[in-house]
Amino acid sequence: MSIADLKTELAKIAHRRCEYCLSPEAFSTQPFELDHIIPESLGGEPLLQNLAYACRGCNSHKFNKTTAVDAITGLTTDLFNPRTQAWSEHFAWDTDPLYLIGLTPTGRATIDALQLNRPKLIELRGLLLEIHRHPPI
Ligand SMILES: [Zn+2]
Repeated sequence: MSIADLKTELAKIAHRRCEYCLSPEAFSTQPFELDHIIPESLGGEPLLQNLAYACRGCNSHKFNKTTAVDAITGLTTDLFNPRTQAWSEHFAWDTDPLYLIGLTPTGRATIDALQLNRPKLIELRGLLLEIHRHPPI
């Protein structure tokens, strides 16, 4: 499958949302990207099972990381893998739905590493909330 075909397929699987922060591509000023779950620099291949549909911010923060430290347990843990794990098992919206909380070490480490509560995302979530497009789940 070509990269273009993979991107089309993953956009469909992800419902055109970033598979990490869940922001909708329709409200992004930048086209979404294909994140290598295992980075190319570590031998990760451009195959469907190793790619995630991601906004530029999440993809940039993830960079070549595959693990991060969970602040609660202090343990290094794998980052969230959208191809093998369910988002709702690791993340939830806080009582203030502008913020994500991690339900597991993987969820918490991924929120920290990818900065899933970064200020621009909070602003976007606030605007989407006003037009009843947030939270998505
Ligand atoms: Zn994102």
